[in-house]
Amino acid sequence: MKQNILDMEQYAIDNNVPIIEKKSIAFIMKYIKEHNIKNILELGSAIGYSAILMASSTPDAVVTTIERDEVRYMECLKNVKKCGMEKKINVVYQDALELNLSEDLKYDLIFIDAAKGQYTKFFEKYKHFLNDSGTIITDNINFHGYVGNSSKLDKGNLKSLVEKIEGYITYLKENPEFDTKFYDIGDGLSVSVKKVEKN
Ligand code: SAM
Repeated sequence: MKQNILDMEQYAIDNNVPIIEKKSIAFIMKYIKEHNIKNILELGSAIGYSAILMASSTPDAVVTTIERDEVRYMECLKNVKKCGMEKKINVVYQDALELNLSEDLKYDLIFIDAAKGQYTKFFEKYKHFLNDSGTIITDNINFHGYVGNSSKLDKGNLKSLVEKIEGYITYLKENPEFDTKFYDIGDGLSVSVKKVEKN
């Protein structure tokens, strides 16, 4: 398992695949253990690195992970098999914004790590699949230090992407249904816990 993880890290470097930073995945694995999280949904599998580590956090943790890129999906399947995790990880080859999950599926944790410009759309679509007091964690909230500094960027794709992440942060801060904390770990994580509905 350890060698497989090291191989995935090397594959990511060699093939320019963005995977989560070590400190960030360590934080999420600890969160899974401490909060007794069992059912996890991940948006953006890439090659399965974070899915495999999340699933290995506890014996009970199971992961459904969604990837829209065919090459990465195939690589993810290969890695899940190599790690003997076929029973704990379900890999779905589809665009997460087009997928129609069965409405009775519920998750304790949703990890958003797909297209950065679509974070608000992912959150709005998938918040309905959370259990009571469930959590949504989002990666790359600092986006390499650009977030908070979009006014200094020249017009273009980068500026527009950073503005979208800034918009997502405002959306989370103002969201009355969730309590969100922001962590300066790795490339920045947000942890949004669903508030319990009062009768
Ligand atoms: N979570 C992975 C890890 O840490 O090992 C890294 C994921 S990578 C940052 C983002 C991935 O999301 C890419 O492989 C990309 O193809 C995928 N992606 C982007 N938008 C998507 C969407 N709408 N639906 C499914 N996958 C998407």
